[in-house]
Amino acid sequence: DTTRLANFLKARIRTVPDWPIAGVNFRDVTTLFNDPEAFRVMIEAFSLDCTQLGVDVIAAIDARGFIIGGALSYQLHKPFVLVRKKGKLPYTTHTEDYALEYGTASIQINTDACAPGQRVLLVDDLIATGGTLLAAAKLFAKVEAEVVGVAAIIDLPELGGSAKLREAGLPVHSLCSFS
Ligand code: AMP
Repeated sequence: DTTRLANFLKARIRTVPDWPIAGVNFRDVTTLFNDPEAFRVMIEAFSLDCTQLGVDVIAAIDARGFIIGGALSYQLHKPFVLVRKKGKLPYTTHTEDYALEYGTASIQINTDACAPGQRVLLVDDLIATGGTLLAAAKLFAKVEAEVVGVAAIIDLPELGGSAKLREAGLPVHSLCSFS
C-alpha cells in the first residue's frame, strides 16, 4: 500500500542538512537510484499512474528527472521528451523563464517534442515550490499538448508547490513527502 511504499522510500533517501545553503534539508535521491529494489518499486508505482492516466508521452526535467523518466518510458514503450536547462538543445526550441528563490531560470523543449493533443506526464525527482513543473507545463501548452499529470518521488507540501500545481489543474502523483 501507499503508506508502506512511502516509508520504504523515505528510509532510503539521504538527507543532507544545510545544502546548498544553510537551513535547507537537501533530499538526495541518488541513494534510491543506487538501490535496485527501490528504483524498481518507484518505476512500478509510476507505471500504474501512467496507465490510469492514459499517458502518450513521458517528459522529464533535467537532470534527476531524466533517470526516472527514461526508465518509465522504456518500461511503458512510450516516447520520452527532455525538458532541458536553457542552451543544451541544438534544434529549434520553446523557452519558459521562471523565478527561483534567488534569480531566474529557463527551461526548453524541442519544437517537435510532441504532437498537438498528446497526453503528457511530467516527471521530476522532487516538488518544492512547483515553479519548475509549472514552467514545464507552460512549455507543453506551446505545442498544444495536454499535461495530464505530474509525478515526483518526493513532495515538500509545506512549500506549497503541489497545491499550486493542483490549482492549475494538474493532478499530482508523489510517492512520499517530507515536512
Ligand atoms: P521547485 O521548482 O521549487 O519545485 O524546485 C524543484 C527542483 O529543485 C527539483 O528539480 C529538485 O531537484 C530541486 N530541489 C528543490 N528543493 C530541494 C530539496 N530540498 N532537496 C532536493 N532537491 C530540491
